Amino acid sequence: MAETTGILISGGGVAGLTAAAAFGATGFSVICTDPAPPVTDDGEGADLRTTAFLQPARSVLTEAGLWDRLAPHAAELKVMRIVDAGGETPEPRVTKDFDAAEIGDEPFGWNFPNWLLRRELVARVAELPNVDFRPGIATRGVLTRETEARVTLSDGAQVSARLLIAADGRGSPVREALGIGVKTMRYGQKALAFAVTHPIPHQNVSTEIHRTGGPFTLVPLPDRDGKPCSAIVWMERGPEAERLAALPVPEFETAMFERSTGLFGPLTLVTKRSIWPMIAQIADRFEAERTALIAEAAHVVPPIGAQGLNMSLADLACLLDLAKAAPERLGDRTMLQSYHRRRWPEVKARVLGIDLLNRTSMLSPRPLRDMRASALNALYSLAPVRKTLMKAGLGMH
Ligand SMILES: Cc1cc2nc3c(=O)[nH]c(=O)nc-3n(C[C@H](O)[C@H](O)[C@H](O)COP(=O)(O)OP(=O)(O)OC[C@H]3O[C@@H](n4cnc5c(N)ncnc54)[C@H](O)[C@@H]3O)c2cc1C
Repeated sequence: MAETTGILISGGGVAGLTAAAAFGATGFSVICTDPAPPVTDDGEGADLRTTAFLQPARSVLTEAGLWDRLAPHAAELKVMRIVDAGGETPEPRVTKDFDAAEIGDEPFGWNFPNWLLRRELVARVAELPNVDFRPGIATRGVLTRETEARVTLSDGAQVSARLLIAADGRGSPVREALGIGVKTMRYGQKALAFAVTHPIPHQNVSTEIHRTGGPFTLVPLPDRDGKPCSAIVWMERGPEAERLAALPVPEFETAMFERSTGLFGPLTLVTKRSIWPMIAQIADRFEAERTALIAEAAHVVPPIGAQGLNMSLADLACLLDLAKAAPERLGDRTMLQSYHRRRWPEVKARVLGIDLLNRTSMLSPRPLRDMRASALNALYSLAPVRKTLMKAGLGMH
């Protein structure tokens, strides 16, 4: 006999657990599976990335009962600064600021370590009696029909769900089982993610420094050991990223000081370095019978402009709206086709935009770098264009 549930979420990463908390808080019965138990401190196996949630993410987090738990740990992002250091020597040439004060009273967003997000997410879903989180259990088989998704789990259990949400990452087993294709763009590029302390305060400014190989981005974190602290994402061509990841710490610190153009003084490494291959990817469809793809199962982008998880939360907000508007239609064709129609074109546009930004940022020939510097200049100097861009970047249409 199969167990029945309203929603089965395959994948308990940040996106899957947020979906579990949001649908659970709304009253739906939810089972969430993940073969990898979440690491909820910054020790061995921890996800050392940080996530900057942009403004629109907050309402989903509030609705899920997560915001009050997270707020005390947030580093506010008030200004996004883009620095072009693409000249002969690694020095800032063009600096442009997007100041959140220009579009309202709130900061642009809030930054959190991913391991801390997981800790609070796991604690939140444990409070919800209608959410059953099953760490250590994978989704194995999927069979759908008009009325249900019938899912086989790795412990042999059979679950019948009205809606199956695939939040099981870029290689999504659910997406594969349903035969949904993807379009993938490769860059031969990797990102190093780690945290540093530095003597010069960040003043809640997120700084993206462009030279070649990809952007070098510092995102504010709360002070650590009484010192200003930032998360860094450093994108480089694959072999160079591997070389940097293997450097002894003092040499790595010298290299990152130079790459940061010295803007924050000497940088001290305070975590391990993790390394992530860069791709952009979009699934051909975001829905199949009784199934919705969200987050990296649906789309992957390089970490530029904090779009990745923020697009995922927009997927979730869309599904949640549709489910609340017509709970009796949960997981039916009308609901899922609306989801696809609302999300796919919007995501496609963002994936292409970020792809373009990343490719421009990788350029090394001098004239192209100069062109990008002047393009940046033109793009960010006109107030109305800037405001439109800021709003588009934030998804506030
Ligand atoms: C360096 C870096 C920095 C980033 N910074 C930002 C940022 O500032 N802001 C932002 O918005 N985004 C950012 N992103 C993107 C963001 O981290 C990702 O979008 C997000 O982590 C992906 O979440 P996810 O839950 O979709 O996937 P994952 O975290 O990959 O979760 C997928 C889960 O599915 C599970 N799974 C796999 N197989 C199965 C199965 N058979 N059954 C059940 N579960 C399964 C896996 O164990 C995993 O836990 C960044 C990305 C990188 C690489």
